[in-house]
Amino acid sequence: MPYKDPKQHAAAVKRWKQHNRDAANEHAKVARKRLREAVYGKSPGRCWYCGVKITLSTMHVDHHTPVARGGRTLLKNLFPACAACNRRKRDMPPEAFEQAFYDDYQKLRESEQRCHNS
Ligand SMILES: [Zn+2]
Repeated sequence: MPYKDPKQHAAAVKRWKQHNRDAANEHAKVARKRLREAVYGKSPGRCWYCGVKITLSTMHVDHHTPVARGGRTLLKNLFPACAACNRRKRDMPPEAFEQAFYDDYQKLRESEQRCHNS
């Protein structure tokens, strides 16, 4: 880092971006693509939550701790999700989403048992 003060460094980066918009946009595009690929790599071809098949292009990048709840756009907080899970999860905290999944599973088990018993 050329500046010891992080604020000075950030200001210099901002100035550089303003004068090199195309390069900055290209850089951001490549960074987003790499991040997306890294997220996909956590569970290649499968939704992290329900296991349904997804591709890199159909994958939704899920913030495990939602942005609305202070979650950040960092690889450790990002997981590959299918559209249905991502829509359903929205701003739910991860624990609530997992509980909702478990409740559905229990309901399914109960209805299966009812079928077997009757
Ligand atoms: Zn899913």
